[in-house]
Amino acid sequence: MQSLIENARAFPSSVAERRDDLAALADGQRPQALFIACSDSRVVPSLITGARPGEILELRTAGNIVPRHRSEADCGVGATLEFAVIALQVPNIVVCGHSCCDAVQGMVTDKQPPGMALFNRWLQRAEYHSRPAAPRKGAATQRHLETQLKHLRSYPCVARRLQERRLRLHGWFYEITSGEVFTYESRERMFRPL
Ligand SMILES: [Zn+2]
Repeated sequence: MQSLIENARAFPSSVAERRDDLAALADGQRPQALFIACSDSRVVPSLITGARPGEILELRTAGNIVPRHRSEADCGVGATLEFAVIALQVPNIVVCGHSCCDAVQGMVTDKQPPGMALFNRWLQRAEYHSRPAAPRKGAATQRHLETQLKHLRSYPCVARRLQERRLRLHGWFYEITSGEVFTYESRERMFRPL
């Protein structure tokens, strides 16, 4: 933790030459995308995309799960989605899965860690359904991503913006060992290099 503290202390001087850019951030934000990624510490959206402050709005959830819309649910995901889509009018939403994801592994193997009732209940919100073995690399993540993109469309604000063609959805898969990013082609139902 000490190195993190030291870096935070040194941060103002490391960005001193960008003071004008940072000061402009006080006027508001106009992010290019809402980036929904797993909470995993190995996935760093701004590192992958090169995004600077103000360029992407991040929503991190265990397993990049987007629960299906339920109007009565108190849900941080739904609240952040509404803020991004309605207030900030983001033109893109990226749902980014990744290799070696503990949450996806938990869904695939259906092995529930003991003493983690909230985590296990959260995984159920992914609505992941096991099917016969699909050994292809990333197959489980692909299946999982397809469902989360479908869940995204169940939010009225998202559906409306899609219909108006003012919003695009993207499914990404990040390979943590190589840094490669693949994008989901819905027509072909497969990932291709970005
Ligand atoms: Zn993960």
